[in-house]
Amino acid sequence: MSKKLIVAIDGPAGSGKSTTAKLLANKLKYLYLDTGAMYRAITFLAIKHKIVDNEQEIVELLKRTEIELTYTNGVSKVFADKVDLSEEIRSQEVNGKVSDVSKIKQVRQILVQKQKQIGGLGAIVMEGRDIGTVVFPQADVKFFLTATIDERTKRRTKEMKEKGKHVPEELVKENLLNRDKIDSTREESPLQKAKDAIAVDTSTLSIDEQVTFLYEEIKKVAERKGIVL
Ligand code: C5P
Repeated sequence: MSKKLIVAIDGPAGSGKSTTAKLLANKLKYLYLDTGAMYRAITFLAIKHKIVDNEQEIVELLKRTEIELTYTNGVSKVFADKVDLSEEIRSQEVNGKVSDVSKIKQVRQILVQKQKQIGGLGAIVMEGRDIGTVVFPQADVKFFLTATIDERTKRRTKEMKEKGKHVPEELVKENLLNRDKIDSTREESPLQKAKDAIAVDTSTLSIDEQVTFLYEEIKKVAERKGIVL
């Protein structure tokens, strides 16, 4: 049986993770898993149930909620107890709270456990903040994507505009900086580059260039390990 790879892609919001990870997964015919969508889903539900400032209640809610991710025909979706929340999880309200919810230790433990189960068989491109450090420290290939804050702000503002949401650049930038700060300073699995991750600054790269660069690196690892892509 030919072994398949686990590809980990970490980095801050707007660094190009999602676009690159999805395209790579398509190219490799691998699964794609957006772990951020899981943290966003529980955050959305916590806001909806008005318990977003109560850590214990959030943990209880997560324990009794079934969060599922799907990726079909290039579209990724997130469901909580079979309800599609894919749109709702991208709101500004969720953006504003998700990093606080994501730093709760038990929330991370539950979701990391789930991510390990899903990715355990390999043939997966998983993106997040702690995939190469905590979820799959043994991943076959790890990338850490970055880009300047101005570039990330520009990308996020454009993405939202394309979805009909007109959020001023200053607000987008403030949210990105705030999330970066909470995500990288939290106690439990902070956002950081794994020692053996390949750092890629995407600030001046096109999507094509990003995907090609990562794919070539994956190919080298596959060849070294005797794995057919
Ligand atoms: O990737 P995305 O920007 O959608 O992630 C939203 C938030 O979820 C991040 O800012 C971070 O707080 C949290 N997150 C995390 N660990 C992951 C993925 C996302 O803490 N593996």
